[in-house]
Amino acid sequence: MTNAFEEKVYDCVVIGGGPAGLTAAIYLARYHLSVAVFHDNSSRASTIPMSHNHAGFPDGISGTELLARMNAQAQLYGAAIRRRRITTLHKVDNLFVAEFESGSIRSRAVLLATGVVNRRPAMPQATHDEAVARGLLRYCPVCDGFEVTDKPLGVIGTGTKGFKEAVFLRSYTKDLALISPEGVHDLSEIETSSLTHLGIRVEVGPVTSTDLDNDMIRVTTPTETYSFASIYPALGSDSCSHLASRLGARLSDEGCVSVDGHQRTTVPGFYAAGDVVAGLDQISHAMGQAGVAATTIRNDLGEQAALVRC
Ligand SMILES: Cc1cc2nc3c(=O)[nH]c(=O)nc-3n(C[C@H](O)[C@H](O)[C@H](O)COP(=O)(O)OP(=O)(O)OC[C@H]3O[C@@H](n4cnc5c(N)ncnc54)[C@H](O)[C@@H]3O)c2cc1C
Repeated sequence: MTNAFEEKVYDCVVIGGGPAGLTAAIYLARYHLSVAVFHDNSSRASTIPMSHNHAGFPDGISGTELLARMNAQAQLYGAAIRRRRITTLHKVDNLFVAEFESGSIRSRAVLLATGVVNRRPAMPQATHDEAVARGLLRYCPVCDGFEVTDKPLGVIGTGTKGFKEAVFLRSYTKDLALISPEGVHDLSEIETSSLTHLGIRVEVGPVTSTDLDNDMIRVTTPTETYSFASIYPALGSDSCSHLASRLGARLSDEGCVSVDGHQRTTVPGFYAAGDVVAGLDQISHAMGQAGVAATTIRNDLGEQAALVRC
């Protein structure tokens, strides 16, 4: 069953309601374009207990508060926001058709802002979520390494990814251990000697249990139990780019959506911004890319048909 919302052809459908998607929606609506945003309530920003590096908020702002403000701002200018997961995206003639469980919507342009999903260490979901909320489990040293300055930290990881994360965090604390997620470490001789030189302890996992204890997190391996102020998983992330690849857009080797300097993908009319594009996974970067994408969309649509006010 269709309704007026679904029958309308929107200027732009934005897939993703995180910092990238909502910034784009604000810009697009303020360009007097019709815009519909779809999300499935899984923005990584919604898990940020308190961000202290987002400019303009010297006392910090939680991810949920930031998203609530952005949602309100986008709707103030007329953006329609719907909680629906887009399952398929295809092009029919010159229009995009985005399908969700109970219907579909058409648009002249689409912006993909679906982000990434962090690979998580093995632990019960409830423990994981509580640990993130309490800052005992952190995913982003760029964001919050400052908050754990001089505290005992554990990095769960190995290989070049684990090595780099541990070395990055060494500029915040000297009390640092790199624990392998599965038994033996996969580190080169040079990496091992660099870690030793920097005073980073190399410990063998796997982590068999994780317990939250007041303001510490206890990590147990088959041979030992460690107590940290925070642990950082360095297990990588997966880009939510499957809608783009199925549409025929080019992806990078890491699975991120490839874009030009104006956030255009290789499919005409299809744009991408935020973490789903390769680059610094930060709110500021997602917002910057979204501003560029929205302005490009406005100008590209204007090339097809003059945007004039009646
Ligand atoms: C614990 C934690 C703390 C962080 N702290 C900070 C910080 O302090 N400062 C900072 O700058 N960054 C921080 N980050 C990183 C920041 O959250 C991300 O860089 C930012 O959220 C990226 O925005 P985005 O819009 O690209 O993606 P996201 O915010 O992840 O949003 C993706 C959106 O896409 C939607 N979506 C995905 N697939 C579909 C689909 N098929 N259909 C419909 N909707 C879909 C989701 O529902 C979501 O709305 C942190 C991340 C984590 C995990």
